[in-house]
Amino acid sequence: AEEEIQEEEENLVERPPIVTVMGHVDHGKTTLLDTIRKTDVASKEHGGITQHIGAYKIKLPNGKEITFLDTPGHEAFTTLRARGSKVADIAILVVAADDGVKPQTIEAINHAKNAKVPIIVAVNKIDKPGADPMRVRQQLTQYGLVPEEWGGDTIFVDISAKTGYNVETLLEMVLLVAEMLELKANPNRLAIGTVIESKLDPKRGAVATVLVQNGTLHIGDYFVAGYTWGKVKAMFNERGERVSKAPPSTPVEVLGFDEIPEAGDKFIAKETEREAKQLAEIRKQRREEELLAKKTRIHLENLSGQKEINLIIKTDVQGSAEALKKSIEDLAEKFPDITINIIHSGVGAITESDVMLAAASNAIIIGFNVRPDTGARKTAEEENVDIKIYNIIYNVIEDLEKALKGLLAPVQREVILGTAEVRQTFKVKSIGTIAGCYVTEGVIRRNALARVIRDGIVIYDGKIASLKRFKEDVKEVAKGFECGLTIENFNDIKVGDIIEAYEIVEERPQ
Ligand code: GDP
Repeated sequence: AEEEIQEEEENLVERPPIVTVMGHVDHGKTTLLDTIRKTDVASKEHGGITQHIGAYKIKLPNGKEITFLDTPGHEAFTTLRARGSKVADIAILVVAADDGVKPQTIEAINHAKNAKVPIIVAVNKIDKPGADPMRVRQQLTQYGLVPEEWGGDTIFVDISAKTGYNVETLLEMVLLVAEMLELKANPNRLAIGTVIESKLDPKRGAVATVLVQNGTLHIGDYFVAGYTWGKVKAMFNERGERVSKAPPSTPVEVLGFDEIPEAGDKFIAKETEREAKQLAEIRKQRREEELLAKKTRIHLENLSGQKEINLIIKTDVQGSAEALKKSIEDLAEKFPDITINIIHSGVGAITESDVMLAAASNAIIIGFNVRPDTGARKTAEEENVDIKIYNIIYNVIEDLEKALKGLLAPVQREVILGTAEVRQTFKVKSIGTIAGCYVTEGVIRRNALARVIRDGIVIYDGKIASLKRFKEDVKEVAKGFECGLTIENFNDIKVGDIIEAYEIVEERPQ
């Protein structure tokens, strides 16, 4: 792709990690983000109040920096991913110690895993009397998050987002994981980033928060973002201060868009206005083509070419999820060449979050005795996600089986029709050599493929061009009868040759 330019190792320098905070509602994501924002040394120095833009970068007392996506919940996370931008390097999973693992906790885990983003668990509300951090650890073990202290590789930190207890330790852990990830960027190239939010400001026009991921964005740079373009007129940091440049892992509010971009759009600085404008044009065109393709959307029955199916399962009760999973596993055994991944399963209505996860991972949503809520329905349409609703497990399996069969490439198989022995040959001008044959097995058919075998060796592979019984053209001659035939483009036929007629059939493996 145009933006994937290989970077020379020597140009790369360390960049701050970009972190997203996920977790169940009310478990303390907003509180944690607020508390973290207050630890920012730069804000204290400037006495500035952090504005609400979609991300902020903090500087720790040790001089290290961390960038937070300030969009609690994983909606933003998945919106960005669904649009093809991987933004977060690390996910902090907030779990309230007095409430434990909840449906959205599991969703968050699946989102992060699917995006291959490492998870740090923040066990929150540790100050509360009912807090049970050990139970949270136990519960999360079931989802593959095993605490380091129990021999696993997931970092758990007990915190209180409200009092600030251990939040500093949590941030140190973020830096530790970041160090292992060796996050690097080249600050001396044209900027590449992602639009994380956008709006139309009545006074300033189209405004977007751009997270610069590589390179440095400068005032006056031309850029393309999604299918719009522009020139950076002004930039503001999270404290509302004007800045003239934005290095890697820096969120900035950018003015100067031709039209409003969409959250998740890639933002790419360009050398010239012409380049930026042209690229936006090309993308607009491509988008129109995609919209057209969307209308002729292929559904579950026809995903051909794929060797992997991702499924999201939502059911009325846990019991049906288990039964469904079991049936799907049994079905999967019949299709060793195809991988079926159940990337998320849960109880309850199909939500927008399910749809976003499906969009991000090209998954099909299967609802069993549940329905999509309004938001999910709308988003599924926009994001082109398939939602299938069932109330009988057998029907799910039947449909899936059909789909899986459709996925398998057709296999070509040869079927021998029959053999004949050449007993005489006649040379006829304008026709060539006619072989007088006796059919020894099966049938010989006009237009069938045919091999000429001499002394056990295939000397020619072609097609039966003509077939006659006495003077009559016939379609087929069966065992025990004589016939005259010609092989297309082959006149070297001899008495004693064997003709083997065959056809190729295409079939889907069962
Ligand atoms: P979110 O929905 O995940 O963003 O959760 P909020 O940050 O809005 O927090 C939900 C509620 O939990 C609020 O009333 C917070 O004050 C409270 N809360 C968050 N963190 C803590 C904590 O560490 N200790 C206590 N006691 N309450 C907390």
